[in-house]
Amino acid sequence: MTHVVSFVKVKDPLDEVEIKHAISSSVDLLGGLSSIVRKDDRVILKPNLEAPRHANTAATTSMVFIERLVELIRLAGARPIVAEGPFMNYDAKTVFTLTGAEELCRGLDVELVNLNDTETVEVRVPGGKAHKKLRIPRIILEADKIVNLPKMKTHHLTSLTCSMKNLKGILPGRDKQLSHVRGLDQAIVDINKVVQSDLIVVDGILAMQGRGPTFGDSIQLGVIIAGTNDLAVDIACSQMMGLDPDDVKHLRIAMQEFSIRPGDVKVVGTPLEEVKTQFNVPRESWTYRFAQRSAHILDRQVYQQFRPEKSIYPLLSGLFGAHPRIDAAKCTVCGICAKSCPVDAIDLPKKKILASKCIDCLICSELCPFQAIQIKSISERKNA
Ligand code: SF4
Ligand code: SF4
Repeated sequence: MTHVVSFVKVKDPLDEVEIKHAISSSVDLLGGLSSIVRKDDRVILKPNLEAPRHANTAATTSMVFIERLVELIRLAGARPIVAEGPFMNYDAKTVFTLTGAEELCRGLDVELVNLNDTETVEVRVPGGKAHKKLRIPRIILEADKIVNLPKMKTHHLTSLTCSMKNLKGILPGRDKQLSHVRGLDQAIVDINKVVQSDLIVVDGILAMQGRGPTFGDSIQLGVIIAGTNDLAVDIACSQMMGLDPDDVKHLRIAMQEFSIRPGDVKVVGTPLEEVKTQFNVPRESWTYRFAQRSAHILDRQVYQQFRPEKSIYPLLSGLFGAHPRIDAAKCTVCGICAKSCPVDAIDLPKKKILASKCIDCLICSELCPFQAIQIKSISERKNA
């Protein structure tokens, strides 16, 4: 089966009118919104608002994407609802205020839902490996359509975060943390077995490269990508970012499990070669992979249950130097990492991570606003 993915290059990426026009064009190239959304549908819009960072930092989806999709969905006679569950300890109200989502949704008279704080339903994951069951917000399960609005970014654990990974944001609160502990790549694929997008429109206007997904460097691309299959969109986006999809672990697993290959993806609109840009991509070294994989195979059950005292994770990653460490000179003792650590492994006054407890979920390094938590065995591949 062929999956169509559209690329539209925006002439002036600072011109919101032009961006809106390009968003419409990207959807028209797929056959138009009326081929996806029906009258009276309840449509969930899922942007990437993972952190209290404005879109001009390249960490979150630009508000113009939400605004244009709300307009198009209403024109189709359907009812849009914006929903997101920010990562871990980030307060949803703060995130919605700083990103501008609260003000935008109030102005548009659209409901804005905090997915970390809604009723959930436990569902079985068919063929689930990292997650056998998942708690999914009822509002997601009962939606007629899901429109995914990811930001194009690199990620220090998963190489890239785009459509498939943006769906992890629907998991409520601590369940996001479990995905890290159970093996993030397989967890992403398992989440996508339960929830799939009907339409994806990727914000590639101001993308992120380097040590994403929250505090990397911005890169002005001016590209909008749309499709109706999460994996197909991510395959096309990875190619655009100069990555072989087979080198991106969650895409490799998904291509095997969902039987979609790069040859099944047809790009329309702006040719891929015209917009292709080599991103700086964080990479895990073999030492980190060895420690992760070995421990995951050898003590998966112990690890899954958050019992670090019985896990060989600390030993293996200690031996191979794969533990995160706090750079005391950069650390401001803000405490964000300690609050988020699932096993209480951070000694904040001493600015130390206790190797005997740490299970290498690397949530702390993702959350540190000052890039003070380093993992020596994760490096960055620079632009060619
Ligand atoms: S989040 Fe970063 S800056 Fe804050 S206490 Fe932890 S290491 Fe230090
Ligand atoms: S110290 Fe960091 S990597 Fe280690 S368990 Fe805690 S949050 Fe995870």
